Amino acid sequence: MTGLLRKSLCALALSVALVSAGHAATLVEPTLHLKPRGDGGRVALTLDACGGKTDTRILSALVENRIPATIFVTGIWLKRNAAAVEIMRAHPDLFELENHGGRHIPAVDTPRKIYGISAAGSPDAVQAEVESGAAALASAGGPPPKWFRGATAEYSPSAIAMIRKLGFKIAGFSVNGDGGSLLGARETARRIAAAKDGDVIIAHINQPTHAAGEGVVQGLLALKQKGMTFVRLDDAEDVGNDGTTD
Ligand SMILES: [Zn+2]
Repeated sequence: MTGLLRKSLCALALSVALVSAGHAATLVEPTLHLKPRGDGGRVALTLDACGGKTDTRILSALVENRIPATIFVTGIWLKRNAAAVEIMRAHPDLFELENHGGRHIPAVDTPRKIYGISAAGSPDAVQAEVESGAAALASAGGPPPKWFRGATAEYSPSAIAMIRKLGFKIAGFSVNGDGGSLLGARETARRIAAAKDGDVIIAHINQPTHAAGEGVVQGLLALKQKGMTFVRLDDAEDVGNDGTTD
């Protein structure tokens, strides 16, 4: 290989690396908080139902302990979990169902992978994911969703702008309660129990075999014990960054 060729290959490799670094840098994981009210602690519990089944440990604990929650459901999950949907619909004072997309595809409008999941990859595909999620909720007979949370909770800024135009606020979070449902029960309980006034907690309600679900219940009961109030996203004034709620 000539020195010149080697040099230009190096330059090429470098520019490819810069381009991918540029792409990686454009994704955002927005945060969401409740506006402080100054009258003791308030938190919002948000639970994702990405696909799969229902963690009845969590669902029963919420009903028994009267803990309100905002549930982000996909079209896939809605189809396979009619009994759980019926329980949620039977308690409209506890459960607010919102849009987690039609097929659980990340709302990122350029082709790439996020945590191993292929992104929607184009503006049209992001729009289809958002609208099919809303349509699935509408056909399940509830009020139309006002919030959207994309699979993986990461977005390209242009996708955020589009989702806002479609009429949805975007639900970030401030406490990652269960690390994608992959944490142990103890660590999950510790993280959730440590939530402070104004926090928005994210965890999962679709992994009944994971230890994390047990931790979600323990953490929530600890917060309740401390006198923390739980609200749904629609019951509070919420403040998100990256243009997600304003
Ligand atoms: Zn999800």
